[in-house]
Amino acid sequence: MTIKGQSAAEGKAKHATPYSPEGLCKRCGAKVVWASYVKRTGEKSRAPFDFDPVEKGAYALMKTPSGYVYATFVPKGGDWPPGSLPRQMHFKSCPGATK
Ligand SMILES: [Zn+2]
Repeated sequence: MTIKGQSAAEGKAKHATPYSPEGLCKRCGAKVVWASYVKRTGEKSRAPFDFDPVEKGAYALMKTPSGYVYATFVPKGGDWPPGSLPRQMHFKSCPGATK
């Protein structure tokens, strides 16, 4: 028995390219990095971050060996994980963002 949705998902996985967290913002075309993070509410979410690190960034982006990227919020004066760079959410700098 073949479930239509299931076979489609399997086909997709078979031809899946290596996971790439990098993308382009649909609004302004800037290079962004998609990362998973946990909201203050404890809810898991995904958001685009600026590709270039910024001094005022509050998130440490870390890449797992499998290429998966996740962001950890670092409070002011907090410890930054080794090898991480401060980044900010792209929403903050996106010129195309609607308010
Ligand atoms: Zn943008």
